Amino acid sequence: MSRVRARVEGTVQGVGFRPYVYRLAGELGVAGHVLNDARGVVVEIEAPSETVERFLARLPIEAPPLATVERVVSEQLEELGEHGFSIRESPTGGDPRAAVTPDSATCVDCLAELFDPRDRRFRYPFVNCTNCGPRFTIVRDIPYDRPNTTMGGFEMCPACRAEYLDPGNRRFHAQPNACPDCGPQVQLIGACTADPVAAAAQALLGGAIVAVKGIGGFHLACRADDEAAVARLRARKHREDKPFALMAPGLRAARALIHMTAARAALLGSPARPIVLAPRRPSPIADSVAPRSSELGVMLPYSPLHHLLAADTGTTLVMTSGNVSDEPIAFDDEDAAERLAGIADLFLVHDRPIETRTDDSVARVSGDRPLLLRRSRGYVPASVRLPLDCGRHLLACGAELKNTFALARGANAWVGHHVGDLRNYETLRSFTAGIEHFQRLFAVKPQAVAYDLHPEYLSTKHALELEGVERIGVQHHHAHLAACLAEHGETAPALGAIFDGTGYGGDGTVWGGELLFGDLRGFERAGFLFPVRMPGGEAAIRQPWRMACAWLAASGTEPPALPVDPGAWKQVSELARSGVASPLTTSVGRLFDAVAALCGVRAEVTYEGQAAAELEALAEPAEAGSYPLPLRDDGGAPVILDARPTVRAVVDDLRAGAAVAKIAARFHNALAAATATACTRAADRCGTETVVLSGGVFQNRRLLETTRELLRTAGLRVLTPEALPPNDGGIAYGQLAVAAARLAEDDVRA
Ligand SMILES: [Zn+2]
Ligand SMILES: [Zn+2]
Repeated sequence: MSRVRARVEGTVQGVGFRPYVYRLAGELGVAGHVLNDARGVVVEIEAPSETVERFLARLPIEAPPLATVERVVSEQLEELGEHGFSIRESPTGGDPRAAVTPDSATCVDCLAELFDPRDRRFRYPFVNCTNCGPRFTIVRDIPYDRPNTTMGGFEMCPACRAEYLDPGNRRFHAQPNACPDCGPQVQLIGACTADPVAAAAQALLGGAIVAVKGIGGFHLACRADDEAAVARLRARKHREDKPFALMAPGLRAARALIHMTAARAALLGSPARPIVLAPRRPSPIADSVAPRSSELGVMLPYSPLHHLLAADTGTTLVMTSGNVSDEPIAFDDEDAAERLAGIADLFLVHDRPIETRTDDSVARVSGDRPLLLRRSRGYVPASVRLPLDCGRHLLACGAELKNTFALARGANAWVGHHVGDLRNYETLRSFTAGIEHFQRLFAVKPQAVAYDLHPEYLSTKHALELEGVERIGVQHHHAHLAACLAEHGETAPALGAIFDGTGYGGDGTVWGGELLFGDLRGFERAGFLFPVRMPGGEAAIRQPWRMACAWLAASGTEPPALPVDPGAWKQVSELARSGVASPLTTSVGRLFDAVAALCGVRAEVTYEGQAAAELEALAEPAEAGSYPLPLRDDGGAPVILDARPTVRAVVDDLRAGAAVAKIAARFHNALAAATATACTRAADRCGTETVVLSGGVFQNRRLLETTRELLRTAGLRVLTPEALPPNDGGIAYGQLAVAAARLAEDDVRA
């Protein structure tokens, strides 16, 4: 006989781990007990030695679907002669280190009940179990027990309680467990109906816009094939061009909308259920869903309420965030009623409060791997490892746009939900509230804070106002590089091509087309895009034609015919030449803007990255032609990617009447080739074989995939972000990695 205590760490609470251990113990006939404590799950078993070994071998492998076992540490104990196996009460108090898990899509067992007329939860929009349902969005405090969630106000009926207390039941300790007798209810505001979901579905089919309260906030829904409804939604929401997300009723319907691959189907059907962007197929989707986009953003239903709406309408719906233009998504009932009153014809709501506003996540597939563009619902707050432990609790405040924050304790990091544009007052409030919430959930008391060097970022100002903490400023593009290195567990230096729109360079110029050689601690600049003026500063971000003007001035080329007032053009040309109120920039994002404006794609934008996205959408896939984009390289100083001849070639092609689809493709090809050559040369000079591609510009699939392929052909190892977005949503995690590495180094020196 032998007795062993096994401590299981990872995501093991609130995911049905104890009932799983109970069943496994029963199957193998071992005695002992299992319990949750502040750090995870503790199992004690007593059985013949070989049975104990078999138990320990199967324990991590057969864990339930939502569990992630990071570590099992076991120790031998004295035998006690125990009989039977039990699930014990959790000890209270202590340091709460157990993981709060992400919200997870309705599982197949719950779906079967939802559509089974004989089941007591038939058509009940809140069916869930330990394998699925809301988690992060309903958690108010730890430990993760019902009174500490927004389900605290609903008392379980005897039938639900019996399930909750039965270790053999799928709902054993499922905190949000509920049924029509005791749980939350839906309501179609202002309508007197026995079946609010069916009534909302009828209204949707009739062309209405319905505000639907979901898991992390409100959506605005309408039929996706009804041009009038979609156009009305656009007008009321004041959203001019940015594509709307779709919810297809099922995978088969999704196949008719986008080009499906096994990797896309897997991502669409994963428990996180992100919006998946993929090339669109000809379909009856209304034109105004995604104007001038070659892709559609599609997701599958992820809550029982969504499944019911999908089944009752039987059609693809627009499911866009419930807000007006760029405001944060509404998640509070009263706030939604007020803000969405002018947009929605009807409100489908329920009485389970949402604790934390959490947007839908957005992803793409690149080279068969997921590429996250927005990491939020379904992914947050799963921890992301850091490659080193600096022995301190850390906070990182992130960037200004697409903001996320991040916290770390030991080698565990938690990256917060997508907060968004901090320049909006309500968003800034959810930034500070979110940080406090995460500090409580994961027992982090920051001793050091990492922040962007940009003095005007509100996230930076927040960091600098904190008292009693060590402060660590991190250059923006270094944070991008470090984020990618850290998520891949890399601590050795690498060469990074970090391309984005804007980042504070620290030398008075705006960076955004950087070749950096560095590790987690520091970097040196190995190259950059030829710097040009940003005429009028920030105004150039909203008006890409200004960047066209600047690049033409730098290239000594006359403009082709552009839809811009000649007087304004002259003024801006003057700014570009004189440099007044026009900082120098190496931004690749701004180069994309310039080329898009020259091609007549877009003179002004209504959302970040729009001109580049539309230029990519236009690029002819098969076009192999390219433009010159020479490297200026004297062997010692940083390599300069000189895009002036590229811009001249674009203008020549335009004058010669070349199709914009060809010009766009040739520009992409030229940039990819020059980037690959520059990286290869710089990596060789720095003595590394690893190249990182990151920054918001690499959301461009064609640029990313072409550059990666060329680098691999040159024999280099290419790392790209997978667990976190390449855009500024990944900055906070990169800041953590840099802070941890610098603090660890300081300790070694001290
Ligand atoms: Zn379930
Ligand atoms: Zn009940």
